[in-house]
Amino acid sequence: MKTTKKLLAALLAALLTLSPAGCGKDNALNIPANQTGSEDFQKNLHQSDKGSFLETDTGYYFTYGNLYFIAKDTKTATIVCAKPDCDHTDDSICNARIHADYLLTGGETLYYVGYVNGSTQPKLVHSMKNDATDRQTVQELKYNETSTSRSSKDTAIYHRGYIYYISDDILYRVKLGGEKDSAEIIWSPENAGTTQSYGGMVQFNPNAIRYTLWAEGDTLYFMANIQSNDGTYKDVLFQCDLSDLSVKQIWATPGADEVGEWETTGVSVSQWYVTNGTIYFYLSGGDMWRAELATGELTKLADTHEQTKYGSAIFSDEYMALLNDMPTDSYGNFALGGIFRTNADTIYLYGLDGSFIKEISLKKLLADLSGGLEIDLLMCDSTDIYFLTTGYTYDDPNSPTHATGRAITLCRANIETGEVLKLYKLQ
Ligand SMILES: [Zn+2]
Repeated sequence: MKTTKKLLAALLAALLTLSPAGCGKDNALNIPANQTGSEDFQKNLHQSDKGSFLETDTGYYFTYGNLYFIAKDTKTATIVCAKPDCDHTDDSICNARIHADYLLTGGETLYYVGYVNGSTQPKLVHSMKNDATDRQTVQELKYNETSTSRSSKDTAIYHRGYIYYISDDILYRVKLGGEKDSAEIIWSPENAGTTQSYGGMVQFNPNAIRYTLWAEGDTLYFMANIQSNDGTYKDVLFQCDLSDLSVKQIWATPGADEVGEWETTGVSVSQWYVTNGTIYFYLSGGDMWRAELATGELTKLADTHEQTKYGSAIFSDEYMALLNDMPTDSYGNFALGGIFRTNADTIYLYGLDGSFIKEISLKKLLADLSGGLEIDLLMCDSTDIYFLTTGYTYDDPNSPTHATGRAITLCRANIETGEVLKLYKLQ
């Protein structure tokens, strides 16, 4: 199978080549200077691990290696670098190469978390003008202080004046612009920051907790994969009252007896979204559900099997967009627990009430991109669904043994018209 070899080659290529090939010559930067940001966590922008988004009144900033801007009026994307003849590959020249881990907040001035010169420490908050000039260091985050290595996956969000972030399994908050030592601990598990060493070389925490942070109004939420009394690990949702920082567990991933079997039965939901005291979630291999956080009452919203058995979803306050990918092994064969997700060609759109709205075909786009093997949903707003396609190229397409190039393209699908467009070739 050609697909088989391509996937394997693609994996190798992804591991071996991280070449940030520039492709943009569009140096006519047209980014509004007077932009207004939001003080609130932007829920619909924080559901993908691919890059980071920040919304202003006039557009979206998006980092994927470089910094990009999607204008709301034209819905076109541009790289945020106005330097003439810049190919956006040189850190010392290009404005767009900001090396942000997370975009936090901002309008005229943007704030983000990043490292210094590619090292992993210290962890710094930077600011810049919204055309990516005038970069300043704002503050250093208390980071990696309880152990000698990174343990939990690090993540950070901004909400109403504070940065909430994870370091070594500990959840901290600190004011934007605050002193490093003023960081408060919101929650810390019993075995926080436990590391193990093998031959003095590799250090990691085998029980690192996987967190997802969320905020709405006066409440911070975090989903954490923790050990239950029976020794198993499952995703549990915690709620922190921001008026007094009290934390309590309010929900846990349901069991198969409640919602049936799915890809990660009893461990974690495939995707979730909290708004107005309700958690909406999708179970790949299962269905679309909601649960009331106050009572735990579960309601099935949609039998998504009518469209696709497996998939990946993202939510907004209005929609759930469901991509019909499936878990596969490195050979492209269906495999529960496989680390790849491929074979997608359609997005199915649902209302938050579970009503099926429409399907949007990606087949024409995929044919056009020829070799687009992976699709990652990024975010959905009231008019469009944004996603990445990753394709691979080969010297000899008849006998591919080594991918020689990787093309990652930012795309969008319009909800009203179903039109699917390529916005920008990122790499
Ligand atoms: Zn540049």
